[in-house]
Amino acid sequence: MRYSYLSHLECPKCRATYQADVPQQVCACGSPLLARYDLEAMRREWSKDDLAGRPNTLWRYHELLPVQEEQNVVSLGEGMTPLVPLARIGESIGVPRLYMKDEGLVPTGSFKARGAAVGVSRAKELGIQVVAMPTNGNAGAAWATYAARAGIRAVIVMPEDAPAITRNECAIAGADLYLVDGLISDAGAIVRRAVAEHGWFDASTLKEPYRLEGKKTMGLEILEQFGWEVPDVILYPTGGGVGIIGIYKALRELQALGWIGEKVPRLVCVQASGCAPLVRAWEQGKTESEFWENASTVAFGITVPKALGDFLVLEAVYQTEGCAIAIDDEETLRAQADLARQEGAFICPEGAATLAAARKLRESGWIRDGESVVLLNTGAGIKYPNTVSVDVPTLRPEDDLS
Ligand SMILES: *Cc1c(COP(=O)(O)O)cnc(C)c1O
Ligand SMILES: [Zn+2]
Repeated sequence: MRYSYLSHLECPKCRATYQADVPQQVCACGSPLLARYDLEAMRREWSKDDLAGRPNTLWRYHELLPVQEEQNVVSLGEGMTPLVPLARIGESIGVPRLYMKDEGLVPTGSFKARGAAVGVSRAKELGIQVVAMPTNGNAGAAWATYAARAGIRAVIVMPEDAPAITRNECAIAGADLYLVDGLISDAGAIVRRAVAEHGWFDASTLKEPYRLEGKKTMGLEILEQFGWEVPDVILYPTGGGVGIIGIYKALRELQALGWIGEKVPRLVCVQASGCAPLVRAWEQGKTESEFWENASTVAFGITVPKALGDFLVLEAVYQTEGCAIAIDDEETLRAQADLARQEGAFICPEGAATLAAARKLRESGWIRDGESVVLLNTGAGIKYPNTVSVDVPTLRPEDDLS
């Protein structure tokens, strides 16, 4: 058995193929490239039983990941996050079989660690020395952290408004950090110019093929945690869309391997009302989105006015008979507080938006009686302390409690 069955890269738009053993960015046509594996051979040589006894990290699926040699794996123990039953809040919204995949528990406190672990490992394997990227904060923090561990230089550009903690994470890991008075799209333009000038590797969302492979492991884990039974619905807070595209890719690969059957979960793209280009495109039945003007939401990680992989997100939604839904900030913050109070889970606003979405979709009947529903909580609430306002009395030492 091989450590990885990666075979080549393929363009999902024009079907051009590329070699995987040298650094690649996007297709000549501008589309992201997807990693392809020798699934025929894997079907014969790899089985569910091979997973038994493997470490509880995303590397347990190394055959279906791009890193060729185990020695190139850069890991901090990421992956196999808990699938937490939310019986109490689930009951209250009419979805008793409600679960949360809690990505707040990975290194750096967001699921971006998955993409960074696999992306940085593969960059190291291919001899890349400098990676550059625009970020809304969490991706930069994760890539700075894993790059430090790999001995790779990271150049990170983020909006001034990105969660403050993510700056500190980049700074302490020794990244070259820059703030921009603008949105992630502005940071992206700066990185694009810098990459062209200095020859750095562009690690922007979907401009290299391997971050997606790391995020795909969320889908593999959900299925393994359900004992390879397919849940009915998965809700995902969508910005650049890498997570939802990754989960969809995982489902198709598991089907090709024969590990699951025909049924796939209906994938729900959840966005914030203040930045919902994919929801608008889905409502209009389109296969691509348009730039969202004046984007703004408390769910900062999903403030992406135009995603490079928009057509892949929409394909995942259409092909699984899913849907796309926008949530107001007030509903998101209410859901965040409800979860903390009723389930003891302090989650990020992006994740909380998926609970608000599940509530609405159940009310409208789109989520049916008795269905199993998975919320993706993409990060820890403690990374966003400002989403909670605290108004409590301060005591003098001699005061008594009433
Ligand atoms: C980046 C991010 C998202 C959106 O991720 P995509 O997979 O790129 O859509 C959601 N939540 C949090 C907390 C994030 O940091
Ligand atoms: Zn192409």
